[in-house]
Amino acid sequence: MEIDGELCSRCEPMFSTLENLTNLKYRHGSQGYRHYKRRELMESASKGCKLCKILWSETRSSWRDGNDQQLLFRAHSDYFVTHEQSGYDMHPFFNAGKDLFINLSLLSANDGHERYITTFILITAADNSAAKYIEARPIPNDLSDRQTQSQIQTWLRDCQENHQCSEEMAVPKLPTRVLDLSNSKSQPRLHISATNERSHYACLSYCWGGPQEVLTTKANLHEYAKRLPVDRLPKTLQDAISVSKTLGLRFLWIDALCIIQNSDEDKAVEINKMGSIYRDATVTIFAASASRVGDGFLQHRSSDEGGVLLPFYVSDSSQGTVTLLLQESPYTPNEPLDSRAWVVQETLLSRRRLIYGTKELLWKCQEDDYQTVTVSPRSYDMLVTSLPGDIFSPIQDSLVKRQKETDIPRAQSWSIIVKNFTSRGMTNREDRLPAIGGVAAELQKLWKDEYIIGTWRSTLAKHLMWYRLKSHPSASLPRPVEYRSPT
Ligand SMILES: [Zn+2]
Ligand SMILES: [Zn+2]
Repeated sequence: MEIDGELCSRCEPMFSTLENLTNLKYRHGSQGYRHYKRRELMESASKGCKLCKILWSETRSSWRDGNDQQLLFRAHSDYFVTHEQSGYDMHPFFNAGKDLFINLSLLSANDGHERYITTFILITAADNSAAKYIEARPIPNDLSDRQTQSQIQTWLRDCQENHQCSEEMAVPKLPTRVLDLSNSKSQPRLHISATNERSHYACLSYCWGGPQEVLTTKANLHEYAKRLPVDRLPKTLQDAISVSKTLGLRFLWIDALCIIQNSDEDKAVEINKMGSIYRDATVTIFAASASRVGDGFLQHRSSDEGGVLLPFYVSDSSQGTVTLLLQESPYTPNEPLDSRAWVVQETLLSRRRLIYGTKELLWKCQEDDYQTVTVSPRSYDMLVTSLPGDIFSPIQDSLVKRQKETDIPRAQSWSIIVKNFTSRGMTNREDRLPAIGGVAAELQKLWKDEYIIGTWRSTLAKHLMWYRLKSHPSASLPRPVEYRSPT
């Protein structure tokens, strides 16, 4: 890996000498790493130092009058050990762990006062010699490698064997049509399910990003039931087939192939079932990083995290590299898939989510909070939150428990969903109600309330108030989904 040529004489050696690393490591009496004063930083940023540019944009509003302030870096970790404890390994970052972080503050020379500015994290690839001391990793370039495959298998197996995420659910009823991936030698085919046929299956949530070439129609339905033109399938769908097989799931539901695309009758029937199709799936695969169906989500991802690459001292004879990244805490991914309104319902109704993002592969089930495939210091805060887990477990007890909730949290949780939903794009305006209808149908059962054109009977008064607030220029409260009456 090549170091950026554009680093100044303060940034370049920050991690590359034993002395600087020792100063960086926070402990009683530590000096920290002294960086620039205001004027020096401005000059270095304008000369083109990549890190100084970031530092300047992060600090420009924080400098106080007077010239006595200086930037100070300090490395923190709960696992730093003393030299005595580390035994033979005298490296300052020995045992730093994945939660190593670098704080940036402004130090006043006058009174020694330190003012916190921001935090950075350090990551490096597994094959970099710095990996011995820096545990956090970037996402692998290829998410179909064996290690990642075995990780997603472990997540699913763990959940099925040890969690209650699907305890009450018998083997789910298959959707009307699903891809049958059972015969690895021959092509996958479209399986027309028998009435009440039951089996585990995966669902795909993805962006079309334009018209698709391979679609199930009235004309090719019988041909596709024998075999699908797998070589002509766009990359995202091929990747989804590969992930389903890795997870040992024989059946996969994809809208373009499982709904007859030139039949209004079939579309109406299947779109109405969409909520339960996602709710009953064993897992939903989210092709979050792909903006078009041809992109795929397993390979060729950019490993550029947007940080600054710096040399890192490993030993007197060996040097590695690390990427210094601003920590966004918590980190909220903004993926191409997030711009699609349907994804709100598909996310909320999925009991198990496998999210192939740009910077991370995430797992989320009803019991597990977000798990990451890389060793990651990030904590995640996703745009779409969770519905009460009760929608996945039809036990009477939990319904009774939920009924004791007051209307206020109910109104709040619905308005969060609506706000989230209305901020996203939708190709067809007439899809607006169906795209959130599945969530409403599930909540209707759970809340024992009546869903009326985008709002709830029990909280109607509160929602109607928003209409009045709407005329107020400062009102930013979300309003209910507009009702589009079917013609
Ligand atoms: Zn610099
Ligand atoms: Zn689980």
